Amino acid sequence: MRIGLSVAGVLRGVGAVFAAAALVSCTAATAEQPDDVEDSSEHDDALGSSYTKTQYPIVLCHGMAGFDSLFGVLDYFYGIESALTSGGARVYITQVPAFDSTEARGEALLAQIEDLVARTGDAKVNLIGHSHGGLDIRYVAAARPDLIASATSVGSPHQGAELADYLRANIKGGSFSEGVLSVFANSLGTLLGLLSGRTDPQDSLSALASLTSAGLDEFNAQYPAGLPSAWCGNGAAVENGIHFYSWSGTGVITNLLDTTDYPLGLTNFVYDEANDGLVGKCSSHLGVVIRDDYNMNHLDEVNQIIGLTALFSTNPKTVFRTHANRLKTEGL
Ligand code: CA
Repeated sequence: MRIGLSVAGVLRGVGAVFAAAALVSCTAATAEQPDDVEDSSEHDDALGSSYTKTQYPIVLCHGMAGFDSLFGVLDYFYGIESALTSGGARVYITQVPAFDSTEARGEALLAQIEDLVARTGDAKVNLIGHSHGGLDIRYVAAARPDLIASATSVGSPHQGAELADYLRANIKGGSFSEGVLSVFANSLGTLLGLLSGRTDPQDSLSALASLTSAGLDEFNAQYPAGLPSAWCGNGAAVENGIHFYSWSGTGVITNLLDTTDYPLGLTNFVYDEANDGLVGKCSSHLGVVIRDDYNMNHLDEVNQIIGLTALFSTNPKTVFRTHANRLKTEGL
């Protein structure tokens, strides 16, 4: 539904900044990993419509510039909600300010989770967060562990995003103006909020600060549950009674028809490690690492734009469905 367009706008802006700074570089696409194409349809045949029927509802939590519905057409988690509900899952989609600190976004998410369980009578929920949403869910998991059965992050920068460091350094160094960036991002967030019927305050610079390595060091010290104890390792499978999982991709240019691939190719060059165009592979690790090298870029992970992802690779919807089945098998 929603996020794809906005993120595309952000990325076009970022790409333009880079081009203007004469930083055009070869896209150094990461080596493609042969994906084993999983298809859960056979499970559906075998199990009727219960393949994704988890005990607790699944809550999808968007990343930066998220909006739950833009004109009711483009879903942030494109086609993923129906892919999950078709197998029996109950799915809810939350909305927090598009650009703000993790704490502010986390507080907004927490209120929605408390409201959700009050309305449905469910004892707990399964949280799945993409990008910044994967940090928000850690905040909620720390605040109300009693309400959270599992917390899964998809392409989230738990150790910071090098792009945020790069932007922050250039703002501080005066290469481009903090004012220009904040006006641009605040306006975008407000616009998207209005289009989707929401008018949450936007704070792009807080969002940027939250995603730098320094910002994450501070956040991680306060909210360490699920984090690996060694660089690029797995975190605890269960902590505070919550099951933690993560996955991410290292594809960048995955579909030539998707124009959002090109700015991701530009941002990719500021990274030292394999990445999805915005988040490094090892930075994405939380709890049990299901896989960190899907042939997906940051937007592919939520099946954007409108399903334009790598052909002949694992379909993002399949990864979500397989994970719902994993949660179901765990009794979550
Ligand atoms: Ca794509």
